[in-house]
Amino acid sequence: MLILPPEALSIFWSVFTAHHLTDVASSLRRLSHATQKQALSIAIRILSLIPDPKKEPYFRKFLQNATAAKDLPTIIARSFVQGTTWKPPAGPEEHCTLIIHTLFWCDPALGDDGKASIDADVRTALATALDSLIPRTEGRIDRRFVDMERLRGILRAIEGMPGAHFLNSTQSHLRGQVDLCGGNMCGEEPDLACSKCKTARYCGKECQAWHWKNGHKARCFTTDY
Ligand SMILES: [Zn+2]
Ligand SMILES: [Zn+2]
Repeated sequence: MLILPPEALSIFWSVFTAHHLTDVASSLRRLSHATQKQALSIAIRILSLIPDPKKEPYFRKFLQNATAAKDLPTIIARSFVQGTTWKPPAGPEEHCTLIIHTLFWCDPALGDDGKASIDADVRTALATALDSLIPRTEGRIDRRFVDMERLRGILRAIEGMPGAHFLNSTQSHLRGQVDLCGGNMCGEEPDLACSKCKTARYCGKECQAWHWKNGHKARCFTTDY
């Protein structure tokens, strides 16, 4: 899979995220950490390899859909705390990147205290797990722990601000970066969505027609979320 050229790999992830995220999510919900740790770890590893939701619109759409994402952020974070069998190319660092995505794109109201999509007790346990995993070094951050360190900072910011203030402001900033016309970099605000995938959005018919001919045709899918 990783030997595919970048454009083909990107189409692969669009196909995967449009068609299989619901299945991976329901597997994660059913699997027991006590008796099916290996299968659970594989599902986490697959999710960890999906490109950033900023770049992969179907992953973004899935995470932003409260009914589809539901308890997934808590399940993913809890599996980090309980211990996952990590294997390259997806290790603890990539697992933390995935947890950051769920915090940044899922509705904070999904969590039990409404501060973040991950339940409060799991956030506390996650912060403790990160403290024990990240080596104590003064100054420079080891490159292998960049997102683990970042996640630790995000968790502190969530607890340090009232309600969901930190994540709400982060999310509106991120939405501002992606909520642009999918056409040829026109930079306009979109007010029209592709009728089939309802994912790509455009400022008008002209940009939509351009995008269809220049890439969207290959990655326009209907999803079950
Ligand atoms: Zn446009
Ligand atoms: Zn479309």
